[in-house]
Amino acid sequence: MPQPYTLKRDQVGSQIYDLAARIFPICRSITGDGVRETLRLLREHVPFEVHELPTGTPIFDWVVPREWSIRDAYIKDSSGNKVVDFAESNLHVVNYSVPVSRQVTLSELRNHLHTLPDQPDAIPYRTSYYHDDWGFCLSHNRMLSLQDDTYDVHIDSDHKEGFLTYGEYVHNGELADEFLISSHICHPSLANDNCSGVALTTQLAKQLMDRKTRFTYRFLLAPGTIGAIAWLASNREHVDRIKYGLVLAMVGDGGGPTYKKSRRGDTEIDRAVAHVLNHSGLDPKIIGFSPYGYDERQFCSPGFNLPVGLFQRSAYASIPEYHTSNDNLSSIGANHLGISYGMISEIIELVEVNAFFQNTSPYCEPQLGKRGLYTNIGGDEAPPDRMAMLWVLNLSDGKHSLLDIAERAGLPFSSISRAARALHEQGLLSEIASKGASNVRP
Ligand code: ZN
Repeated sequence: MPQPYTLKRDQVGSQIYDLAARIFPICRSITGDGVRETLRLLREHVPFEVHELPTGTPIFDWVVPREWSIRDAYIKDSSGNKVVDFAESNLHVVNYSVPVSRQVTLSELRNHLHTLPDQPDAIPYRTSYYHDDWGFCLSHNRMLSLQDDTYDVHIDSDHKEGFLTYGEYVHNGELADEFLISSHICHPSLANDNCSGVALTTQLAKQLMDRKTRFTYRFLLAPGTIGAIAWLASNREHVDRIKYGLVLAMVGDGGGPTYKKSRRGDTEIDRAVAHVLNHSGLDPKIIGFSPYGYDERQFCSPGFNLPVGLFQRSAYASIPEYHTSNDNLSSIGANHLGISYGMISEIIELVEVNAFFQNTSPYCEPQLGKRGLYTNIGGDEAPPDRMAMLWVLNLSDGKHSLLDIAERAGLPFSSISRAARALHEQGLLSEIASKGASNVRP
């Protein structure tokens, strides 16, 4: 039976935080150098393969868009003072804005300004991906302070034929069956959404690199929506290898944890996440699928219908910092990132270890005491939980997986798997060979 493994969790939260902080300043978008530069930094830790699809490539009902570059942007008043400056925050420009360079009146300018009256000191994050427009985002208070004047507006950007870029790293396991972990990489300087997810995904890949695993792990860092569509279009014939999948986003705050189930709702990843979260000691929210959110929308579109759920701490749009300049590095914490990492690691551990067993002594209960399983004889380690052993023996009829048993017993999976290991060592269990993922019943 596979041995459990413990990923090093000490210090891991601060390593993830440091990585998130390193990529935070980069101005990313759905295309362009921001994603390339981010992947370049991440490749110092994990050899992500960089894929590029040319502008104009048809991908299902979509087309790879032009590549966006931005060098500078500002609004100047008639005295030459920059009242809004892209150099101060990349959120100041509507992401994917077309270039502009002209003089406008205050009332004309206001048609292109975006603010948050409810949060008058925060800069909103806005995009204009699929229609040509330009605009600036600024705090409501700064907008109110603008005098009646003539303003120079300047956005030095362009849209050119180029590429859509995404990163992918595959860790091969014993089985071709895959566990997909995906994070969107298209947002500019927003820490929780989603420098946190990108950094956590990278750290998980880094930890698995030198480990032997049963499943193959595929880590995908792609621009939201269009990147996931591009990946699915490029890998259409392979997606049935995906037996488990998680989208990771907003994993750096202290909320939740929140899990949105896959469209199917009853797959093994849904059960594994629910189990780990319900035994986390936190106050998890487990919600049904809806066709809105992050890239689970594409993975769970009806043509694919993959077993992919969404893991977050606070749910998107549920906190005031969401899509504002307040989603900065102070909105995420190393401790929260460490806890999120721990939960994802436990989920991985669960699917790695989960299996079906047959009780080799099924006629009445076997005598545990004579096998040293009731009391601590000689060893330093306490014997496994007695109830866990009794549940494993009773339900190991080849038809119940360890996760089935943990759910039925209401005990943590770790306790059930530890009991199973001890019973297996004593010859009281034999493992049922399964042909692939443990959600394929033998
Ligand atoms: Zn977002």
